[in-house]
Amino acid sequence: MNRRYIIAGNWKMNKTPAEAAALIEEIKPLVSDASCQVVVGVPFIDLPAALEATKGSQIGVAAQNCYWEKAGAFTGEVSADMLREMGVQYVILGHSERRTYFGDTDMTVQKRVRGALDAGLTVILCVGETLEQREQDITGEIVAMQTKIALGGVSVEELSRVVIAYEPVWAIGTGRTATAQQANEVCALIRSVLSGLYGPEAADQALIQYGGSMNAANAAELLAQPDVDGGLIGGASLKAPDFAAIVAAASR
Ligand code: PEP
Repeated sequence: MNRRYIIAGNWKMNKTPAEAAALIEEIKPLVSDASCQVVVGVPFIDLPAALEATKGSQIGVAAQNCYWEKAGAFTGEVSADMLREMGVQYVILGHSERRTYFGDTDMTVQKRVRGALDAGLTVILCVGETLEQREQDITGEIVAMQTKIALGGVSVEELSRVVIAYEPVWAIGTGRTATAQQANEVCALIRSVLSGLYGPEAADQALIQYGGSMNAANAAELLAQPDVDGGLIGGASLKAPDFAAIVAAASR
């Protein structure tokens, strides 16, 4: 199966709208030849600027979260329908920072996934174990559980609008990357979970990224792994040349 890689930047809470537009202008010419999907995940406030700056390019725009209800008395929240109407195509859900600092759980991630898919968005669903869980040798169980719960109620047709990002929590923003073998092992495990849920064909077509301190220097080795179909990039996505180098590594 030839899966088309996806390289997505997660800018986290960085860049004002003007800075976001400037960074995208810098990235655009550097990724114009990419054969992989290229996405920038920006703060809500930057979405209009990012959508404007990416117009006519092949760069997609992601939000970093969304609420599951369509509208109502949910002060401070943003619905998937609102994102979709603006022209946003992707949403990152279940990121470990959302789970750690903002109370996201497997069940709330499931609801967000439902809301996003109903609105027509493509979901980048983050799963991954903490260092303690890896040391307890329960990485497989944790990642399988997170994946199964988040995908509860998702049909096989809808799965084509879900990208799974395997992000070991201990590797996010720490400079400590999983080895290529560790990354592939867990991505392969996620694929086998998908096979159990949806059958081998759907699992074979599913896109599974690695995320966690991926950078220009280590991307090629990680992306060369058979079950790694791209990357979710935090820190390195804020530097245009580094992000472009990762995109280039995924475009070979
Ligand atoms: C992330 O935020 O999803 C991430 C992988 O961050 P970093 O690349 O900085 O580890």
